[in-house]
Amino acid sequence: MSMQETGLKIRTLGDPVLRKKARPVKNLTDFQRKALSEMARLMYSVSGVGLAGPQVGISEALIVVDTGSSGLYKLLNPKIIKRQGFQSSEEGCLSVPGVSVKVKRSQKITLKALDEQAKPLIIEAEDLLARVFQHEIDHLNGKLIVDYQ
Ligand code: ZN
Repeated sequence: MSMQETGLKIRTLGDPVLRKKARPVKNLTDFQRKALSEMARLMYSVSGVGLAGPQVGISEALIVVDTGSSGLYKLLNPKIIKRQGFQSSEEGCLSVPGVSVKVKRSQKITLKALDEQAKPLIIEAEDLLARVFQHEIDHLNGKLIVDYQ
């Protein structure tokens, strides 16, 4: 694929890549760094708050998240290591246009991940930010909001 020429496109419900479990990134290269940058650009261009690799046809554990309050996260291999409490609200998804589903999530999470320099990070998130991380990590496991209906 050539991201430069064609740009990434958002895959929608029915595309099998959305149901595949994404591979963890073992050897970080410019491919992943470029993919994360392109994903962020695409996310902003459609006013999204998060995007995961499978949503653009890349079956690797990559996510970008920006809820507007704590800056842009570009993460590899995110994994939730602690959960506290619950929250429930309506969620949409760029890959499931026109649908919104009430989803119960953890209120507060701690996650570990790598940044785009392969540096390990521990991130604590709550409320909307925690919700978006959980939604994007679902994508890495092939899970979509329609599965919560
Ligand atoms: Zn989504």
